[in-house]
Amino acid sequence: MNAPSPTLARWLSGPRFDRLPDRADDQAPPKLSFEFFPPRTDALETQLWACIRKLEPLAPRFVSVTYGAGGTTQARTHATVARMVTETTLTPAAHLTCVGASRGEIDDIARAYWDAGIRHIVALRGDVPGGGDYVPHPQGYAYASDLVAGLAKVAPFEISVAAYPEIHPTAASPLADLEVLKRKLDAGATRAITNYFFDNATFLRFLDLALAAGISAPIVPGIMPVSNYTQIVKFSAVSGVRVPSWLGAYFEGVEDDVEIRRMIAAVVAAEQVRQLQANGIDEFHFYTLNRPDLTNAIAHILGVRPRAVSAG
Ligand SMILES: Cc1cc2nc3c(=O)[nH]c(=O)nc-3n(C[C@H](O)[C@H](O)[C@H](O)COP(=O)(O)OP(=O)(O)OC[C@H]3O[C@@H](n4cnc5c(N)ncnc54)[C@H](O)[C@@H]3O)c2cc1C
Repeated sequence: MNAPSPTLARWLSGPRFDRLPDRADDQAPPKLSFEFFPPRTDALETQLWACIRKLEPLAPRFVSVTYGAGGTTQARTHATVARMVTETTLTPAAHLTCVGASRGEIDDIARAYWDAGIRHIVALRGDVPGGGDYVPHPQGYAYASDLVAGLAKVAPFEISVAAYPEIHPTAASPLADLEVLKRKLDAGATRAITNYFFDNATFLRFLDLALAAGISAPIVPGIMPVSNYTQIVKFSAVSGVRVPSWLGAYFEGVEDDVEIRRMIAAVVAAEQVRQLQANGIDEFHFYTLNRPDLTNAIAHILGVRPRAVSAG
């Protein structure tokens, strides 16, 4: 008998893989939250609101709006969350940072959020605009943990904070970073939302380490569906996120084909969340980049179905 062809040999001797387990029929769909950024132009504002309307029927438990240093970006964050309160069925969370403002000024911004009906803040340290070493404002909150403690005095906000499965780039050590996370939660935050990541094992190990460090609050994975590979490589270099080589290989040669890149993004993110779901994770925070389609498709795969929206 002739030797089997390489294909047949692989088929006869290679391992067999099961598909990822599906969510059980009686298991509730995961809880979702969506992140948006405040629009800089009228055209971007139209795009954002079309995105919000498209995702609203998925009934996320909250939607958050990022915040930048500087008056105009802050006003845009405020305007966006305030409009969400009055015109949608959504529960907005406003991001707030310590950068470039005194404690009094930040407290005033928080009070204005409360008065506008915002009950949830994502409390962050923030970064120096344009890069550079972070130096706290002389009269400001130095770190996110100080901001959390300050916010808790302003009003009984629900507070979420940031976490870094691959460690914050300037943290002294992984353990020190976990202690910082614990400090933020002990100061009054009830949930951590992670920076995006591509290696699920790293995230799951981070959950184990957090638990070992005495953290029992939910740590929600931040999911970034990536369709612009070049941009994510640049961004990841700054934020300390490892971009695996397989992701680069997926996007090789399709730089000019937006549609194919978006299809790849959907496949990659769907596989990531399904694997996390199979590992028992049932809450996800999506970085939407103000575009609804990828988030919508991935939420659908996770078992989330739209509801009728009555208000607005
Ligand atoms: C979910 C999410 C949302 C975000 N949204 C925004 C946004 O809207 N706007 C924005 O500008 N940025 C945003 N960021 C980015 C964030 O502001 C930066 O990553 C920033 O560098 C750190 O913020 P933090 O809240 O994690 O800071 P912190 O928790 O204060 O930690 C910052 C660094 O300081 C260290 N540290 C903390 N406390 C101490 C201490 N007492 N002594 C010594 N070292 C300490 C930590 O280990 C870490 O290295 C977001 C990040 C995430 C993950």
